[in-house]
Amino acid sequence: MSVTQAFWSVPPRAEEPAYRVCMSCLSEVFYLKVPMPDCPTCHGVSTYEAFTIEAIRDWGTEELIARAGLAQQEADREAALAASVKSAD
Ligand SMILES: [Zn+2]
Repeated sequence: MSVTQAFWSVPPRAEEPAYRVCMSCLSEVFYLKVPMPDCPTCHGVSTYEAFTIEAIRDWGTEELIARAGLAQQEADREAALAASVKSAD
């Protein structure tokens, strides 16, 4: 049970929302990345679509909205970590 989930990172683009929601199970959401090779919950491939947080709040379940918030916090933490590693050079 030591399998680590791998991700494709999705570079931020102005014309595209940052959140990716699995349209197959609607229970997985990630921020600027998508799990590979498939959705960890329903194992759907290429089921992720881009949404804004506003859209997720509009139609998402409480759980999905909470997960979206956590996904962004995690991304912020990773970005801060990467920045501190770079500035240590
Ligand atoms: Zn899924």
